Amino acid sequence: MDLSKPIQYVKGVGPKRALLLKRIGIETVKDALEYYPREYEDREKIIPIDMLKIGEKQTFKAYIAGKAREYRIKGLIITKIPVKDGSGALELVWYNQPYVKNNFKLGEEYIINGRISYKYGQVYVENPTMDKSDVLNLNAGRIVPIYKLTDGLSQKILRNIIYSLLKEYINEIEEIFDEDFLTEYNLLGIRKAIKNIHFPESPEMLERAKYRLIFQEFFILQLGLNLIKNRYDIDKSGIKFKHVDLSEFLNNLKFTFTKAQDKALNEILNDMYSGKVMNRLLQGDVGSGKTIIAAAAMYVAVKNGYQASILTPTEILAKQHYLSLKELYDKLGVKTELLTGSISNKRKNLIIEKVKNGEIDVLVGTHSLIEDNVQFKNLGLAITDEQHRFGVRQRAMFKNKGNQTNVLVMTATPIPRTLALMLYGDLDISIIDELPPGRKKVETYAISGALRERAYKFVVNEIKKGHQAYIVCPLIEDSQTIYAKSAEVVYEEIYKGVFKDFRVGLVHGGMNSNDKDKVMSEFVDGEIDILVSTTVIEVGVNVPNATVIVIENAERFGLAQLHQLRGRVGRSSHQSYCILIAYSYSDVVKKRLKVMTETNDGFKIAEKDLEIRGPGEFFGVKQHGLPELKLANLFDDIEILKLAQKAVERFISYDGNFERHSKMKAELIERFRDKLEGIILN
Ligand code: ADP
Ligand code: MG
Repeated sequence: MDLSKPIQYVKGVGPKRALLLKRIGIETVKDALEYYPREYEDREKIIPIDMLKIGEKQTFKAYIAGKAREYRIKGLIITKIPVKDGSGALELVWYNQPYVKNNFKLGEEYIINGRISYKYGQVYVENPTMDKSDVLNLNAGRIVPIYKLTDGLSQKILRNIIYSLLKEYINEIEEIFDEDFLTEYNLLGIRKAIKNIHFPESPEMLERAKYRLIFQEFFILQLGLNLIKNRYDIDKSGIKFKHVDLSEFLNNLKFTFTKAQDKALNEILNDMYSGKVMNRLLQGDVGSGKTIIAAAAMYVAVKNGYQASILTPTEILAKQHYLSLKELYDKLGVKTELLTGSISNKRKNLIIEKVKNGEIDVLVGTHSLIEDNVQFKNLGLAITDEQHRFGVRQRAMFKNKGNQTNVLVMTATPIPRTLALMLYGDLDISIIDELPPGRKKVETYAISGALRERAYKFVVNEIKKGHQAYIVCPLIEDSQTIYAKSAEVVYEEIYKGVFKDFRVGLVHGGMNSNDKDKVMSEFVDGEIDILVSTTVIEVGVNVPNATVIVIENAERFGLAQLHQLRGRVGRSSHQSYCILIAYSYSDVVKKRLKVMTETNDGFKIAEKDLEIRGPGEFFGVKQHGLPELKLANLFDDIEILKLAQKAVERFISYDGNFERHSKMKAELIERFRDKLEGIILN
């Protein structure tokens, strides 16, 4: 008896079905037991035939009352079988399944489920689910689980498999909480919960089973996050920065802050002047001006004699931040450096040396920043840009480059507060909900591939006005398996074609950093008119003179990503345009692209994305390094999440019985090692 037994060797499965099950992610007994239903149908009530409601899915018990009849209409074979109970009669109907007539014998009694229809004076049920009334019935007369299926696998078969596994293996499932814990949080035991999540005894038991399993998912997740926090966030009281006069800094800017920027900066400075360690998330739509806020905060740290650093997900972005910060900081006597993977070792070592002895005030860079060989003299402020591109662990490693380091994380991907609380622990949140004045809404058009030529002509017109353009493709090079535009091919095609009179550049993630940077700087300097690229330009890149972005195969991108990409234009007072070219048009694609044409508001787009795709995909669970939540939903189950968070806090602090908790904790960590490490290692 082993939960890891391959499903193939389970009675009633075999190699053929095992392949089908594999398609839905079931390879072992355990996988099957944890393959929770997608929904349930209440087929508990058995209704007399004369009481059945037309148009509804219902269950009744009836016997076969006559011979099957067969009709052929235009290549369609229709089979009809009459059934009766004490109260009335109706017909069962099948299409192109002539063999069903051999399955049923006159007089046999069945429990039947299906949608009740009515036409031409006849009540009938198409493609009913049928079970003999005298055998155990998993398909009616109860709350019935509905699983996600794959071709060739039926609800009935899967129900049978899972039911028999439950009977045989339920005692192999181990409880992770002890009795006291279960009582304290009013949780169903794990075996009861698993049984009832598949075959609920009653609606109440189904609710309790769900509650128990959702609680457990949140508990494990939260436990992992807490373990990381405890590992890295030991210090609480922080540096007390002295007030800094910002007038010189502000005088060097070509603009004044928006109200929202002022507010955010104030919140940040209040933290820094308060003497507690800052842990703040700065959310602001693309182009809302987060960088300059970061620059001001770093300036305050530096004027206090501390170092500051900003971590970015891409070299392009690091370079760009470096250049704009350097321009500003040079005038203010702040020494700025850039550290990325592509810098020569000799130079890298020199920078590392200078960072260590304090000759550099502000260090801008990519992942290289958090490598072990980088040590700061006194890092007072660690800023992560585009935080959504980093995992929990990287943020913690960065912070640990200093003592009591203040942390500011910035993101343009709005996330709901509860999720922010989970991911970032006790982060305070500031929001820039306003764009700098004079920005025009980016006009967005969704078109089909057939109109591509016209879109490119439109681009030509913009360039003739002295502006620049981006063309974004989903792939670097053509692929045999994925049908989508690749940057290389589009580049080849257009620099000789429609754009032959202009300067066209190509940049993608497969190029080495030097080449990439060269092209990017040429684009920034206006030496390139049209930049063909992959999504490497997605985050942060700022070229105000670019007024049009064409996104090839827009159907292949998520909404949040499209929004980020669109944020590359509309960065000046020129009217800007975003053209989304889709080469396949499903309903979902249509819906999503419509959202893009209708709104420029990142928060609204995130909400819509959520609505259309559901939270699982939206949050890109993997990208945050979180274990998969099978049942739990971050929106619907917020209350359970809060309870689980409290439970973890009590549990971790050994509130109550220390010995009991430490035993359970050790066992939990052992049991969920893979999951917890998944979180911790990310
Ligand atoms: P994001 O929030 O997407 O990181 P950036 O910080 O890159 O945005 O800012 C986008 C552009 O807006 C930059 O060119 C920046 O100099 C400019 N900017 C920032 N704040 C203001 C402001 N208050 N008024 C005018 N321009 C601003
Ligand atoms: Mg930015």
